[in-house]
Amino acid sequence: MAELKNEFSWSKSRHETFDECRRKYFYQYYGSWGGWSATAPEPARQLYRLKQIKNLHLEIGTAVHTTIEEILREIRSGRTPSPTAARERVRTLLNQSWSESRGERWRDEPKRYSCLFEHYYGPMPESERIDELRAKAFGCIDRFFALRWYPLIRESRPEDFLSVEDLDSFDLGGVRVFVKPDFALRRDGLHYLFDWKTGKATERDALQLACYAAFAGRKWGVAPDGIRIVIAYLGDAVADERFISAPEIQEALKSINASVERMRSLLVDVASNAARVEDFPQLDDLRVCARCVFREACRPEHSFAR
Ligand code: SF4
Repeated sequence: MAELKNEFSWSKSRHETFDECRRKYFYQYYGSWGGWSATAPEPARQLYRLKQIKNLHLEIGTAVHTTIEEILREIRSGRTPSPTAARERVRTLLNQSWSESRGERWRDEPKRYSCLFEHYYGPMPESERIDELRAKAFGCIDRFFALRWYPLIRESRPEDFLSVEDLDSFDLGGVRVFVKPDFALRRDGLHYLFDWKTGKATERDALQLACYAAFAGRKWGVAPDGIRIVIAYLGDAVADERFISAPEIQEALKSINASVERMRSLLVDVASNAARVEDFPQLDDLRVCARCVFREACRPEHSFAR
């Protein structure tokens, strides 16, 4: 098999990691590269293992997304999803990740088995807090079924489904821009791209939505007025359908190009995508480090409260 090459690319999560902490960005996209191999150097193996850690909020987001993905696949295959069964599925997924994490099955296969931040670094949440989080996940599923677009999805034919959680990309000046819309549907002459969120709205969401519109235009050859982006904050019961204009898409592409330039400016060699750890400074704010999955490797000298 040909050896995998660490190609430079852009994604919204890469952009956010770069903005949050340069060192974290290095660990995530360079230091951990190859760490999946048993023969990789120990630092890369450690970083690869650490980057798989998720906190409970992220784990809830994953369980909700997985369950909605399964619901959509059921609809596409002509079955009628049950909200009760969907809640049970979320419960099962959360229980599974909790017991995998507790049992430390991730030590041998960090990509396959969950490792929760709360188990690894602490502190462990109170049981009331865990109940609250579980209830939040159930609420997200209930609100998905209550979305005003649900009947539209439910009544769609299999051929109307364009993608369900598919990782895809488009080219921007020679850089691969990765996108993963949660769901895409073609109905009544319009292309709908859906994004489910279990967290709060942020200013950064606008860039992601414009990115989806740019992707849909390239992938399906559709003009901006034929695209609708639906963003559903399932935790807050807020959902909105947006049209992204051609100038807004251009603005987003400009901002992606600027982000690419900032990332590349720290590389020692752009052509080979080579980076050195010393060019990616650590943050000074230890409150951010306290929540960081890489803190064991990055700040071994600091004892964080558990
Ligand atoms: S521990 Fe702090 S400095 Fe190190 S990668 Fe994480 S956020 Fe950045």
